[in-house]
Amino acid sequence: MSTTKDRLPYYSRFEVLTEGEPAWALDQRAVLYHFDGLCYWRRPCDAPGFKRVTSWQAPSYGWFHRVDCACPLCTGHDGTQ
Ligand SMILES: [Zn+2]
Repeated sequence: MSTTKDRLPYYSRFEVLTEGEPAWALDQRAVLYHFDGLCYWRRPCDAPGFKRVTSWQAPSYGWFHRVDCACPLCTGHDGTQ
């Protein structure tokens, strides 16, 4: 299944933690995770809201930022800027 999300670069949990920008990730069971810049949150597809989780409960990879994010990761991913 191909979606427009394929255009977004994916980051590791460590990268989004270091950057401190809001980020989102989906795991294999379509559970949505959110990083708000400080904490990790988890929302199963049948749950009404997010619950806070520890960092090691969040996916270690597959994180993405907003499409219009202007952080160094998104604007200069190769680090040459
Ligand atoms: Zn970014």
